[in-house]
Amino acid sequence: MERIFNFSAGPSMLPVEVLETASREMLNWHGTGMGIIEMSHRSKPFDSMHNKTMADLRELLHVPENFKILMMHGGGTLQFACVALNLLGDKTKANYLVTGAWSEKAAQEGAKYCTVNTVATGKASNFTTVPDPATWNVDPEGAYFHYCANETIHGLEFDLTEEMLAKIGNLPIVADMSSNFLSKPIDFTKHAAVYAGAQKNAGPAGVAFVIVREDLFGKSLKIIPSLMDWKVTFEHNSLYNTPPCFPIYMCGLYFDYMRRNGGVEAFTEIARQKAALLYGTFAESNGYYSNPVNENFRSKMNVPFLVKGGNEALEKKFLNEAEKVGLSTLAGHRSVGGLRASIYNGMPMEGVAKLVEFMKAFQINNP
Ligand code: PMP
Repeated sequence: MERIFNFSAGPSMLPVEVLETASREMLNWHGTGMGIIEMSHRSKPFDSMHNKTMADLRELLHVPENFKILMMHGGGTLQFACVALNLLGDKTKANYLVTGAWSEKAAQEGAKYCTVNTVATGKASNFTTVPDPATWNVDPEGAYFHYCANETIHGLEFDLTEEMLAKIGNLPIVADMSSNFLSKPIDFTKHAAVYAGAQKNAGPAGVAFVIVREDLFGKSLKIIPSLMDWKVTFEHNSLYNTPPCFPIYMCGLYFDYMRRNGGVEAFTEIARQKAALLYGTFAESNGYYSNPVNENFRSKMNVPFLVKGGNEALEKKFLNEAEKVGLSTLAGHRSVGGLRASIYNGMPMEGVAKLVEFMKAFQINNP
């Protein structure tokens, strides 16, 4: 059976080698006579896999010693609540920058536990740009500053600039990196905590990674469920209860694969090349394909685009014909429409090259 190129926003493609290793090891992991998902999470073999997964992630992202790696249940969404419940301490307010659907969701969840100060919102631009930091309104009394480093739906990605950092001041900075985790290095001098679900660049759905500076432990609210408490999770080596064994194992295979293939730095370069190929195709199409996002903030992971300014009949035709040649899941998110190509680490360059070839032919055949 031939594999297709799947441009899903997540869960998404994994490297074939990772899938093959998992299937080979399914019945008998490293000579133990059983599969990794059959064994006790308190056993020695499991522990060695579990610890190697975290150690490899630490190596890949050059995580400093004073930052702790946690593996948790509940995906990125549960972290929306975890952020507030772990960091509010005796504060009652928190700062949220809203640059798209996901940071908006994070702010809505945070508002269940504190008063949310919206630092700025890009809504007026339909989330096609990051609001100018000169207009940001940061409340220094807030417990933290939260932002989303890559808006998966709107295709908007950015790094914190010096001007932004000056506005944020001394507040702990928390980033949702769900959809660009492991696609580029993380600057830990700028962040107090980052989190991400695995199912885009790191493995299958079912585990979320949190990397948090240890001095932030101990500020959690009394009502916090133990399973959501970052400190409790750390103190139990992410084994407070039965962990998501299989996702952790799959991520471990993915991390090992990345380490052997040049690390995060190599994947950063491939991501740059894939994104350049796609955005370059838009630029050369004389407006046939367009992306609404400000050029400075275009995502290298999620690339939304319109055909002829949003011609729905043509977009439907595009999707149908693409599917037939193995270019799959290219529909935009239902809330924004259009098309979207998600090109995470698991998407090989040849997948993007094939998409671009298809796009050029489609334009010629459907002027
Ligand atoms: N944040 C971002 C940026 C996302 O893209 C997603 C999922 N697409 C989430 C949070 C929610 O993650 P999960 O589905 O793992 O809860």
